[in-house]
Amino acid sequence: MIISIAFSFSMYRVLTAELDRVEQRQRVRIESGVGFPPRIFIIDRDLIEDAKNRLKLILAGVNLFILAGSAVLGYFLAGRTLKPISEMVDDQKRFIADASHEMRTPLTAMKTEIEVSLKDKKLNLKQAKQLLGSNLEEVNKMQSLSSYLLNLNQYQTGRVKLNFEKIKMSEVVEKVLFQFQKSADSRNIKIFREEEDFEMEVNEISLTELLSILLDNAIKYSHKEGKIVIRTKQEGKYGIIEIQDFGVGIKEEEIPYIFNRFYRADSSRSKSEINGYGLGLSIAKNIVELHNGKIFVNSIFGEGSTFTVKLPLKQSARIV
Ligand code: ADP
Repeated sequence: MIISIAFSFSMYRVLTAELDRVEQRQRVRIESGVGFPPRIFIIDRDLIEDAKNRLKLILAGVNLFILAGSAVLGYFLAGRTLKPISEMVDDQKRFIADASHEMRTPLTAMKTEIEVSLKDKKLNLKQAKQLLGSNLEEVNKMQSLSSYLLNLNQYQTGRVKLNFEKIKMSEVVEKVLFQFQKSADSRNIKIFREEEDFEMEVNEISLTELLSILLDNAIKYSHKEGKIVIRTKQEGKYGIIEIQDFGVGIKEEEIPYIFNRFYRADSSRSKSEINGYGLGLSIAKNIVELHNGKIFVNSIFGEGSTFTVKLPLKQSARIV
């Protein structure tokens, strides 16, 4: 607007000066009588003033038009530019709200138990120990939630650069199996391995974390005395890891959401009986993306699920 007003102002100055100059020259000619019979050429001052006023009006109109046009255009362009930023802010807000909600649940449970126990004048040692045991459970839940949140933050795509090293796939599987053997045994779940061994360029800590999340879920969502199969194979430039269970499965309409943060499928079993925050798969997805890979799920509700991870053997190859 400043440029446009300055331009209009100088245009007005130039044009009015030109009009005045024409008037001045005519006056000189008339007075000197060169080529004009004086009775015909009378300078009309009003006409010149009228032209100047019209010029002012036209320039003001043009400036108003530019002002209105740029306001409307600016509004739309600013909206478009700010859209991704506002989506990011909304996402952050949702994340904070969800995380605080998850934190509040164990805190509220602990607070209520402590308050009730404090009011109980006959509280004995056995009851106090029970209270402490229950509090400890809630503290453990909060601890696992905060470590999930830290992991999620660490693996957010774009925030972290992983160091990749060559590892043997079978060694990682071995390590993860060792971690989860006890929890599988406690529910009489048998884990089978169908492996092709190969080397892959990965970040070992995060690959171990990825397999732990998938195997933990396979155990959590399996029926007692169930079966889990871990398959690894090489397909061209890619390494494939499959973890298959024959447990509760996922409803088709819920599959698109299971990788979202804090999403837990609505089946009553998974919500009420099985611990979790709906963060594992979103961490898994971040890890896979940081390895330039893909993660897929195939699931039939009531029959079981297969999670497949496809990672490039070398980090320069990308999945298309
Ligand atoms: P959670 O802590 O709830 O397990 P995840 O992010 O790991 O969170 O998983 C999200 C949801 O996806 C789970 O709540 C569950 O409903 C579903 N899910 C994940 N893995 C399996 C599986 N192997 N079998 C059935 N459902 C699964």
